[in-house]
Amino acid sequence: MTVAAGVRVATRDGGATELDEQTVQAFAANLRGGLVRPGDPGYDEGRLLWNGIMDKRPALITHCSGAADVIAAVNFARTHDLLLAVRGGGHGVAGRAACDDGLMLDLSLMRGVRVDPRAQTARVQGGATLGDMDRETQVFNLAVPSGVVSSTGVAGLALGGGTGWQMRKRGLSIDNLVSADVVTADGELKIASQTENPDLFWGLRGGGGNFGVVTSFEFRAYPVGPMVVLCAPFYSADLAAPALRAWRDFMREAPEEFGASFLWWSVPANPYFPAEHHGKKCVIPLVVYVGDLARGQQLIQPLLSLGTPLVDLSGPIPWTVLQGMFDPFVPRRNLQYYWKSIYLNGLGDEAVDFLVERAAAIPSTYTYWVILPFGGAMSRVGAEDTAFGRRDIPYLLEFDSMWANPDEAERNIESTRRMWAETQRHSPGGLYLNFPGFAEEGDSLVRASVGSANYQRLAAIKAKYDPTNLFRLNMNVKPQE
Ligand SMILES: Cc1cc2nc3c(=O)[nH]c(=O)nc-3n(C[C@H](O)[C@H](O)[C@H](O)COP(=O)(O)OP(=O)(O)OC[C@H]3O[C@@H](n4cnc5c(N)ncnc54)[C@H](O)[C@@H]3O)c2cc1C
Repeated sequence: MTVAAGVRVATRDGGATELDEQTVQAFAANLRGGLVRPGDPGYDEGRLLWNGIMDKRPALITHCSGAADVIAAVNFARTHDLLLAVRGGGHGVAGRAACDDGLMLDLSLMRGVRVDPRAQTARVQGGATLGDMDRETQVFNLAVPSGVVSSTGVAGLALGGGTGWQMRKRGLSIDNLVSADVVTADGELKIASQTENPDLFWGLRGGGGNFGVVTSFEFRAYPVGPMVVLCAPFYSADLAAPALRAWRDFMREAPEEFGASFLWWSVPANPYFPAEHHGKKCVIPLVVYVGDLARGQQLIQPLLSLGTPLVDLSGPIPWTVLQGMFDPFVPRRNLQYYWKSIYLNGLGDEAVDFLVERAAAIPSTYTYWVILPFGGAMSRVGAEDTAFGRRDIPYLLEFDSMWANPDEAERNIESTRRMWAETQRHSPGGLYLNFPGFAEEGDSLVRASVGSANYQRLAAIKAKYDPTNLFRLNMNVKPQE
């Protein structure tokens, strides 16, 4: 690292402080991972997040090599009252993993995963991606319930809940969390589990990055694959209404081995898809069966006969391939993203007709809308058993808006916000905090999503573990006064 004059760094109150060179040097010398500043090699690569619309410039980036570096960085930020951002996988749509002029604590060197095949558990470091985790667990034909895009960070995903193909059978990621190592605001490494710091353990399961930096998670893993069955016929959007009804009815009766999502999309302009269909609006009644392959293939037949698909990707597929299947369509940096979600009351005729009509006007061919069915194991956990909140919702709808040209940002964001507002009449309120748009509504979004009893409890836990709100760049909960 080259050394120049002192460094001006943003503070938590919105001001700034001048750190003298000696102080910064001493901090850097105390890190094994490294400290990067504007102008240093790797600065741009380090600061840029997955969402191409985010362009934040921290004054300092710490690349942490382990818990000791995390402790050093948290102590440094607290002592100097610095604005602090924590980066796990960098996928957070709201872009809170970086900050302008503050300290960015980056965990991307900490991607280790150790699997205990006898106990069927996996110990996963705080900067690991889903791809890192699936690769190691699949050595033993195991998988931790998590999300559906391999480049997503385990940490942000799991701290917000963690929806994915296994959630009806095994629950959310947080429902399979055994323990976590957390560096709290006082710079101490604490273990959080049902028996140690149980209040912290409760808060971590849905309360996001409010309580500290998770340096590692221990999850339960389950037999999965190596092959699973995918049902993914791309039907023309003309068939949207019957396909959605058929998928809804299918999933009502489907065994819990089925994970599912219904997609509105446009056939990607990608050589993998026939050129004559590129850009055509389509719907995909997508389901994934984790279990006996022959039985899975037989069970999906009703969803394959709703018409003549434009493209059909159905069939047995390796779990790790399935988990990477969407990666090319949600590339890091090359697109801009505004992803916002909403809970749905149901998929009655009125809601179906409303969604089908509105989806026809999605302004970008990159965008997809996704409906996920809740239910099964994830809904057998009580609303107050974890911080996540409501578990009785039948469906989650995500408006995953994406565009390539920055000039189209306003149009896409505005249309998503309008759609989100109009869909409120089909919603009991609340959303999935891992898809919060830019979280522009502040903590009202958290309250509405976790419920007021859970919010009060989170605020009390926040006051205990982070009384000065050091960890504020997240779905923030204010410490109870
Ligand atoms: C392409 C894509 C696909 C997705 N698919 C799914 C899905 O299938 N299921 C699902 O549930 N969600 C999904 N998500 C949403 C995803 O869970 C959130 O965006 C999540 O925040 C990503 O975590 P991250 O660590 O990559 O993000 P980051 O941007 O690094 O972190 C987000 C926030 O989490 C906190 N944080 C991160 N790491 C730590 C840590 N180690 N300790 C403490 N706090 C930390 C920080 O507050 C940070 O601001 C998807 C997102 C994208 C972009």
